[in-house]
Amino acid sequence: MAGKIVILSSEGSTGRTLLAWKLFLTISSRREKMVHLLGYDLQKPDLLPVLDAKDIKTSDIHIQVPRVDKDRCRFCGACITACDCGALHIDRSIPALVTDPEKCEACGDCEAGCNLNGISYKQRISGQILHYHQDNFQISIGTADEREEFLLPLICSLNRMVNTEHISICDTGPGMGGDVLTTLRDADFAIILVNPEENWHRKLLPLTDNLREKNIKYGLLVNKHRKESGFIEEVEDTCLRESIPFLGAIPFDTQFEKLEKTFDQKANDPEMESIFAAVWDRISLVVS
Ligand code: SF4
Ligand code: SF4
Repeated sequence: MAGKIVILSSEGSTGRTLLAWKLFLTISSRREKMVHLLGYDLQKPDLLPVLDAKDIKTSDIHIQVPRVDKDRCRFCGACITACDCGALHIDRSIPALVTDPEKCEACGDCEAGCNLNGISYKQRISGQILHYHQDNFQISIGTADEREEFLLPLICSLNRMVNTEHISICDTGPGMGGDVLTTLRDADFAIILVNPEENWHRKLLPLTDNLREKNIKYGLLVNKHRKESGFIEEVEDTCLRESIPFLGAIPFDTQFEKLEKTFDQKANDPEMESIFAAVWDRISLVVS
């Protein structure tokens, strides 16, 4: 099978990055398809340690941030209509035409939409994509400064690297903000991580509501399971009741809690290897 698989969680520290890495190792060891691991968690790129500095290709991502000329703007709203992202609005209390960096993809449509030359662009670098590849896999990790507000152009750059003929495993940030929603574009499946804790089901609602609305298939995967009594059964029952695939349970394991700089799946614990293989088999059944 081929497809874009995105790993989601309602909050941080759920083990998304490690899970993305282990799943990537499991799939790439089968050598059935080109496998692409993509790091979309731009301001917390925890995947970076897996890359070996000497073989990495780094690309700067240049963006054009819209800049409004206050002397020319007549607040006619034509640029707002031209923006498909809903990233512009008029703040009448100032008054000013305001760009929302959490929605702007720096596409350039608003400049063309203004007949009064009220918008120009300021060119700058918003971040980098680090890229590494071997014959059967590739890794692309986006990074941006913590102060960078315009993250979507970098996410869109990563999206353009996704090849529909390959298996793409995407590590995102937590929650369901604009960056995660943009990562989910053209996704074939989402893995939602569930950690054993109270109210786990309620915390997932913003994620599952969005996925249903976007018609993206998803399944639940328990992570960091410490043999909490009845927890797996509770998640399984929910999956059965709501017709959601249950993908399995990854035990908490201190050996597992680190990223190794090895691309050899055989270097991993055989039990863990078989658990990840079973998870991937279940995902393949749903996606194909
Ligand atoms: S189209 Fe031009 S004049 Fe009209 S609101 Fe936008 S920037 Fe201002
Ligand atoms: S650059 Fe594109 S996304 Fe950003 S405000 Fe202009 S039209 Fe909207």
